Amino acid sequence: MNIFDLIFPKRCVSCGILGKYFCTRCISKIEFIDRQICPVCTKPAIDGATHPVCKTKYGIDGMYAAAHFRGPVKRAIHLLKYQLVSDMAQPLVHLLFGKYPSFLTNFDYLIPVPLHNKREKERGFNQSYIISRLLSTKLNLKILNNALRRVIYTLPQAELKEKERFQNIKGAFYCDEYKKLKGKAVIVVDDVSTTRSTLLECAKVLKHAGVKIVWGIVLAHG
Ligand SMILES: [Zn+2]
Ligand SMILES: [Zn+2]
Repeated sequence: MNIFDLIFPKRCVSCGILGKYFCTRCISKIEFIDRQICPVCTKPAIDGATHPVCKTKYGIDGMYAAAHFRGPVKRAIHLLKYQLVSDMAQPLVHLLFGKYPSFLTNFDYLIPVPLHNKREKERGFNQSYIISRLLSTKLNLKILNNALRRVIYTLPQAELKEKERFQNIKGAFYCDEYKKLKGKAVIVVDDVSTTRSTLLECAKVLKHAGVKIVWGIVLAHG
């Protein structure tokens, strides 16, 4: 136990018991996703690959989500994001990516969904970047952190209805790394995806920049 554990004792995000962020009982309540969906039509799809009929020129090629956005996972992501508990990311990624499909290691780069500079300053960190760093070690993939920039200060997606989310995020990103990205296969990383609007918008911008294959990875979906 270090000094920080004494000042800020770790509690289970779900039941509050002291000790760890996830107690054994609550770990067993995590709802992993065993049937991935197509990120375009949301119907079941093998490994989360976009159905051939759902594919478009600048569209996303697939999405892998580890768990449902419910229960302990939902509470953990809220802690990470809104209560700024950045060391929550490590146990969370470790739990959710204990197992993962091996094809996820066959990409060139991980690209975190960027925050606007202003929001990153407010928050002190970009949770998607922290998650990307942990995944980078697990999947043995490089991170391209500044490939996408957030050029519009958007409203938080969580506060909006589904249709508004697509409108809110439109034009929010800009790609800076045309040379490095041409013909590459990348994974865009985010903490949680509900409508997939952020991932679809990132995919569009990256495909326009010459990226060949764009997948998304999220800790949780729903
Ligand atoms: Zn618990
Ligand atoms: Zn589909």
